[in-house]
Amino acid sequence: MKKGLLIIISGPSGVGKGAVRRVIMEDKSLDLAYSISMTTRKARPLEKNGVDYFFVSDEEFEQHVANGDLLEHASFVGNKYGTPKAYVDELREQGKNVLLEIEVQGAKQVLATCKKNNDDIVSIFLIPPSMAALERRIRKRRTESDEVIKARLSKAKSELGERSNYKYIVLNDIVQRAADEIKEIINKEIAQNNA
Ligand code: 5GP
Repeated sequence: MKKGLLIIISGPSGVGKGAVRRVIMEDKSLDLAYSISMTTRKARPLEKNGVDYFFVSDEEFEQHVANGDLLEHASFVGNKYGTPKAYVDELREQGKNVLLEIEVQGAKQVLATCKKNNDDIVSIFLIPPSMAALERRIRKRRTESDEVIKARLSKAKSELGERSNYKYIVLNDIVQRAADEIKEIINKEIAQNNA
C-alpha cells in the first residue's frame, strides 16, 4: 500500500487555520486524518480533551519531548504545542493522508525533517488579506487578554516572512473559498501520489 501524504497547513496566529481546517475535514472524500496536537495551554470553553487537543501539564509535555515522542514542538506565546509522532506515522503507513495544522516554527522542523528523509510533504501557508484583518479576527475571538493579543500580532509579522518555504500560498479571504482551494490542492497531490 502507498504511504499516505503528510499535509501541513500553517500561517500566522489568527489567520483562520482552525476554521479552514474544520471545513476541509468535513469533506470525507479526501480521506484525511487530523493529527491532534498536544498542548500545555488551558482548554478554551467548548474545547474537548482528545478532540481539539490533548491538554497536558508542563511536566508531561517535557517528558514526551525527552522520550522523542513528538514529530515537532514549539513554544507559542507562553504555551507549548507538539505533534505526537507515532499516530502520524501509523496512519500514513495505513495509507491515510494526515493533516497537521501547526504554527510556523513547528512547521519549519517538519519541513526540515522531511527534506532530510526525502519524504514528500504538501506544505500550505495561509495568509490574511491584511494585518488589519488579522487583528480584527484575533480580537473578535475574545478569548485572549490584550497582552496576549499584542504578542500574537507582533509574532504574526515575523511568521509571515516564512511563506517562501511553502509549496502553496493560499489567501484566506473567505473561509469556504480558501478551504475549496486547499481541497483542490490536496486532490491534485493525492492523484500524483497514486500515479
Ligand atoms: P491556539 O492556542 O490558538 O489553539 O494555537 C496557537 C498556535 O499553535 C496556532 O498557530 C496553532 O496552529 C498552533 N499549533 C497547534 N497545534 C500545534 C502543534 O502541534 N505544533 C505546533 N508547532 N503548533 C501548533
